[in-house]
Amino acid sequence: MGINDTARHQGMRKKLVEALKIKGIRNPEVLSAIGKVPRHLFMESTFIQFAYKDQAFPIGAGQTISQPYTVAFQTQLLQVEKGDKILEVGTGSGYQAAVLLEMGARVFTIERQKELYNRVHKFLPEIGYNPACFFGDGYKGLPGFAPFDKIIVTAGAPEIPEGLISQLVIGGMMVIPVGNNQRQEMKLVTRISENDYKTENHGDFIFVPLLKGTVNF
Ligand code: SAH
Repeated sequence: MGINDTARHQGMRKKLVEALKIKGIRNPEVLSAIGKVPRHLFMESTFIQFAYKDQAFPIGAGQTISQPYTVAFQTQLLQVEKGDKILEVGTGSGYQAAVLLEMGARVFTIERQKELYNRVHKFLPEIGYNPACFFGDGYKGLPGFAPFDKIIVTAGAPEIPEGLISQLVIGGMMVIPVGNNQRQEMKLVTRISENDYKTENHGDFIFVPLLKGTVNF
């Protein structure tokens, strides 16, 4: 693991993994990935001391790094397998992308805020993570790179964007929080045929909103 990952950080990560187990995360590959990604390197210096608390924190541009439990929960729902081609909407800090990469997925991630995109697409390779990073409106997905085995949306959507479902392989799955600004329901959407999909609900969460268009500074 890269620069500035000490035995103390590793110890704190072990405790975080134990806390996630107690909260119901069972998938061993998910837990192992959380145990490996140095979350403290993804945080602003003011919050580094809290990096292994199970909480969300500000990352600039009015956005947050998701709570580890939420990252683990979404990742577990997605049933990630080695070699899966995954689209992430909402790169944010890059932490979720790093967790997927640790699990052996190929990751395409898209962010609508230029400031975050600029920072993260330079930073991730520096610590050994190499997703394909894109600046753009993830509402539309990445039609030029579709289809994807899995899609993970890490911002709260007002409804399920049909355009994203069409970028899944048949049998592919998308995990997406859907609701209003106060509260979203975690949905697991499976594309069962060319024109049909089914959805399952998996409880309430709170995300920053999925917004249309891009922010260019
Ligand atoms: N996965 C991130 C969580 C970031 S919070 C992490 O691990 O840190 C959600 C992110 O989604 C924010 O950075 C926000 O700017 C971004 N976002 C919101 N709407 C978007 C859209 N339409 N396309 C791409 N990114 C979007």
